[in-house]
Amino acid sequence: MSDALTAINEELRRLQQEGLGHVYVDESTLSLLQSSEPSESSEPKSVGAKPAEKPAAPTGPISELEELVGKKETKSENPKSVKTETAPARGKPLPDSLPEFELPSGDTATQLAWLRERVETCPTCNEHLGEDGKVVFGSGNTEADIFFCGEAPGADEALEGEPFVGEAGQLLTKIIQAMGLQRDAVYIANILNWRPEHNKPYGNRPPTVEEMNFCMPYLKAQIEIVQPKVIVALGNTAVTGLLGPDTKRRMGSIRGTWQSFEDIPLMVTFHPSYLLRAESQSNPNAKKRLVWEDMLQVMERLKLEISDQQRGFFLPKN
Ligand code: URA
Repeated sequence: MSDALTAINEELRRLQQEGLGHVYVDESTLSLLQSSEPSESSEPKSVGAKPAEKPAAPTGPISELEELVGKKETKSENPKSVKTETAPARGKPLPDSLPEFELPSGDTATQLAWLRERVETCPTCNEHLGEDGKVVFGSGNTEADIFFCGEAPGADEALEGEPFVGEAGQLLTKIIQAMGLQRDAVYIANILNWRPEHNKPYGNRPPTVEEMNFCMPYLKAQIEIVQPKVIVALGNTAVTGLLGPDTKRRMGSIRGTWQSFEDIPLMVTFHPSYLLRAESQSNPNAKKRLVWEDMLQVMERLKLEISDQQRGFFLPKN
């Protein structure tokens, strides 16, 4: 049993190191972890120790798991949070055929408005919504040079119908501002247009390959309309959606490299949720610096002015 737990923990750590935004844990794994929680009676009692005034935060497999599945990030402050308890562990079946459409002629704003309407009324996207949830289309500048692509809406985004408005979104906004840009100067979208349903009270499930494939025509059309000079893929799901699945690909090795999506340069970086989780680790700035170096590469490619102060962000101070 303990070997199995060690293996699960190691695998979760490995995925986290690779920048995976979210981890979905199935019932049997969760039961295994729960059944292994040390019971109070089996805890060695320290003689003479002052009893804790408040129960200590849970430690061990469950709390590590909560950290890795992003409990903190997805607990919406909005009391009308999307209910997930009764949703299925995997999404409802998808149609055999992918969405097909022809963009109308017109300027980028007209085309994007048409596509937004198409996606927001897409029956499949709507079928997958939780209670109070909305379809989430991309947002931002229709002529943007930079197109940020994330994974899928979380609870906050599903409520608002806007990408990256929760905690991870606020961090993304700060990254964009650190680049000397306003959020409305860039375009932000997700691989998936709905929040992947699951049956846990917290956390997010990463999209399946089938779900990603279904939404790809919508994402591709947004890229085709905006025609960005650079795409930034935020985390493993964005990379898988845009570059295709590859079991040998590792975020740790591909991060910070230029790839390409339909001849558009694509920079791979970590998802902001990964940086949020790293904030509780010993050297959170090390991870932020890696993402920042990726953004410096993007700025250099776009010939944006870079100050000495910007070059030095998140470097250790001497
Ligand atoms: N994480 C994502 O990948 N996308 C969002 O819109 C929000 C959080």
